[in-house]
Amino acid sequence: MDLGTKLFRSVLLTMAGNRAVAAVAQRYGLKLGARRFVAGETLEEVMMEVAKLNRKGISATIDHLGEGIRSMTEAEAFKQEYLKLLDCIQEHKVEAGISLKPTQMGLSLDPDAGFTHIRDIVQRARKHQVFVCIDMENSPYTDSTIGIVQKLHKEGLRNVGTVIQAYLHRSLDDVNQLTNKAVVLRLVKGAYKEPNNIAFRLKRDVDENLKQLIAARLDSGVYTAIASHDAAIIDWTCTYASERRISRQAFEFQMLYGVASPLQERLAKQGYKVRCYVPYGRKWYPYFVRRLAERPANVMFILKNWRVR
Ligand code: FAD
Repeated sequence: MDLGTKLFRSVLLTMAGNRAVAAVAQRYGLKLGARRFVAGETLEEVMMEVAKLNRKGISATIDHLGEGIRSMTEAEAFKQEYLKLLDCIQEHKVEAGISLKPTQMGLSLDPDAGFTHIRDIVQRARKHQVFVCIDMENSPYTDSTIGIVQKLHKEGLRNVGTVIQAYLHRSLDDVNQLTNKAVVLRLVKGAYKEPNNIAFRLKRDVDENLKQLIAARLDSGVYTAIASHDAAIIDWTCTYASERRISRQAFEFQMLYGVASPLQERLAKQGYKVRCYVPYGRKWYPYFVRRLAERPANVMFILKNWRVR
């Protein structure tokens, strides 16, 4: 990555956390171009999009957008949204799990209450046979997020897993520890701005670490999601699995809504399990800006389409 792109990415990631900009942006609904990455603002809209994906043989994990909340009242409201979402998944009989962010449940404000909110959601999800993935946020929350999942597993709630980010130096240890406890994991490269002393900087190093994590999980037989749009990583995974006769049912590919859709459809047609991460809700701004930061060309795409409208 050249210096200009690095700087641009860093500016976008800083903007993703800016509340004032978020408030202004969200007032304009999804018109700013976020519609490409966000399925809608309401439950009805997201159900329609998920049903469309299911018809193409692609399942979903639905994320009700919202992060960095400021009060436990907000956290309670988000929990209620997730409970409604779970009932809606059951009612519409769509093939979907859910993804949630621990800070959205109040983890940074009141860890005990945040844990209780997550447990309530996982319990309702279990009733509907839905899997819950606890997304991984930035590094101040890595230990607590892993801790929540382990605690829920100890309580017998097995329909919950989490995410491990290959850019963190610690990740192979985390993967090994969680694999021993048969925790379902999603492996990603990592989307946040992290300090140099704890994270790999170079794409080459992140990619190598991701391959190591994928290999460890595929060898273990514990169900794993490989969440990447990187064609080289996907090809490598397919080859690794086929050379070792690892069943295509033992893992799945996950990609984001609005990103690499032809690739998602092609893999599904080839018999791989594919799940699309489908976000919805009014608080779409930080999620949208992180998607732009991942690929600065997206900014040009959005600007061009915006001008035309
Ligand atoms: P990259 O090397 O970044 O990209 C490879 C290629 O993919 C690019 O050349 C480009 O063609 C395409 N591409 C990648 N991103 C985009 C984009 N936004 N728009 C258009 N094309 C793109 N990160 C976390 O930190 N925590 C999480 O919980 C988390 N959950 C995730 C769940 C899913 C299902 C996915 C797919 C990603 C998740 N991520 C999460 C984000 C992840 O960490 C990466 O930031 C993101 O996936 C980009 O990395 P990549 O593996 O696609 O590879």
